[in-house]
Amino acid sequence: MSEHQRTLPDSAGESVHALNKPWTARVLTLFPKMFPGPLGESLAGTALENGIWALETVDIRGFASDKHRSVDDTPFGGGPGMVLRADILAKSVDETAMAAGPEVPIIYLSPRGRPFDQPLARSLAGGAGVVLICGRFEGIDERLLEARPIEEVSLGDFVLSGGEPAAMAVIDAVVRLLPGVIGDPQSVADDSFESGLLEYPQYTRPQEWEGRSVPEVLLSGHHERISQWRRDQAERTTKARRPDLWKRYVGARD
Ligand code: SAH
Repeated sequence: MSEHQRTLPDSAGESVHALNKPWTARVLTLFPKMFPGPLGESLAGTALENGIWALETVDIRGFASDKHRSVDDTPFGGGPGMVLRADILAKSVDETAMAAGPEVPIIYLSPRGRPFDQPLARSLAGGAGVVLICGRFEGIDERLLEARPIEEVSLGDFVLSGGEPAAMAVIDAVVRLLPGVIGDPQSVADDSFESGLLEYPQYTRPQEWEGRSVPEVLLSGHHERISQWRRDQAERTTKARRPDLWKRYVGARD
């Protein structure tokens, strides 16, 4: 982390939404045609059409200066693959950050980053938008990360071939939290991770399927018993599958 780190907003800044400017994702990529991709469909797609959020792609190659428009070079010290050049990326980052404004966080999607999670999605949703840098090949020149206020964020402990699917995942997770995207706010509140627990199991019609019926309590119409059952299930699942989350949950509760 560099000392001139832009800080991520802590909580939903209603004032930002009140300005009437849509939450804006600016994505720096070598493959702008990949967007909006899945973000143009369903929930996020409708919200995009309705102007609840906006998407701008920035083609990193547009900032290359030589006639081959090259953006990468071989790594110093040897080794396989190519590395994205700091000078060319810096030009694209600077121009994009200027358009986004000083409050907007700049994130480099990277397996070495802080793991992306629901609190970070919520924090981003409370701001004016995000600038996302998608790496390719072996990644980007480390000096860019030192010289600019960039936070590294990882989607998980695996390696993608590029940052684009990670950028889409981040945007999708944030957009569904924006006011007006999901009709019933309770549906977001019940989601996995929102309370520190994984979600309870869900059932729908048919009531009988392949000899299996849905848990009796869900048919009872007894709201208190239903929510007690759901809480028990959420706790049981979290304890069994995610001891790390369970430990944090119990710690926060006690
Ligand atoms: N050599 C790098 C991996 C490069 S993968 C390393 O071992 O750390 C190429 C690009 O894909 C990265 O620059 C990054 O932008 C993206 N990427 C790969 N895995 C990712 C992950 N888990 N989370 C977010 N971005 C990822």
